[in-house]
Amino acid sequence: MSEKIYVGVDLGGTAIKVGICNQEGELLHTYEGPTEKEKGTDAVIENIEKYVRLIVEQSPYTWDQLVGVGAGVAGFTDLRAGVILLAPNIGFRNVPIRAILEERIGKTIVIDNDANVAALGEAWSGAGKGVTDCVCYTLGTGVGGGIIINGKIYQGFAGLAGEIGHISVVPDLEAIQCGCGKMGCLETVSSATGIIRMAVEAVERGDATSLSMIESKITAKDIFDAAKAGDEVSIRIVNRAAFYLGKSMASVAATLNPERFIVGGGVSKAGDILFSKIREVFMECTPAPLQQGVEIIPAKLGNDAGIVGAAGLLLR
Ligand SMILES: [Zn+2]
Repeated sequence: MSEKIYVGVDLGGTAIKVGICNQEGELLHTYEGPTEKEKGTDAVIENIEKYVRLIVEQSPYTWDQLVGVGAGVAGFTDLRAGVILLAPNIGFRNVPIRAILEERIGKTIVIDNDANVAALGEAWSGAGKGVTDCVCYTLGTGVGGGIIINGKIYQGFAGLAGEIGHISVVPDLEAIQCGCGKMGCLETVSSATGIIRMAVEAVERGDATSLSMIESKITAKDIFDAAKAGDEVSIRIVNRAAFYLGKSMASVAATLNPERFIVGGGVSKAGDILFSKIREVFMECTPAPLQQGVEIIPAKLGNDAGIVGAAGLLLR
């Protein structure tokens, strides 16, 4: 009996990344091609099929060994119906992608949103390997999340569980409006966007900071570098982002009691200055029994988490 393989698809706005995983979640081969969303929905779907067939052809595996294809997409999805309701970055609206791909590819197709899929990837073969309950934070432009319980993605009744970025944590007087329309969400202070906003505000206020010497647009990395070099304003900004992350994790720990918090995305590259503060605040805010054995660690798979997790949808 030959080994079974699973293909994961990371359906992004500019590129479609596909990868072959084995049963253990090891990523064996990858392929990347343009999305070509400007050519319309049918062209994008055609590309998915093309890349899936290509990667299997180019690998040492046969089409018969392929169990199915999982796909992760940024947007709103109806998991049960297999429909992408709205995915602005690829221009999809009410596309019954599962039925279309099943017809074209002739294998089982599973879809989910990108944050859930990345969380599953980390849980399956990344920083959450061997752990049944974990919660993943992705700190990018926004703050994404995914909850894994008993090794499976926890969806919630409408498939919206894990919207960690929209936990309301910032007190009223300091709160600003989030992209979701509400005030004081975690995303407003702990995403790259939030961190950069705080830095720009500090420079505009005339605070004494090395960031004011930067002539181009300030990036999150500039702020981390300045913090590591001892710039007090930057340290304050990183601490503030970490403070609310730690507080949100205390709430999540009291609700779900996960064994691990896995933190990925661009902002997690700040490293120890971020993680040590998150852990400190988490310990301050979480009752002792709920801290026992709980770890807060960086994600491992980086950009591959989406492909691996999408393949994992077929097993979990
Ligand atoms: Zn929000």
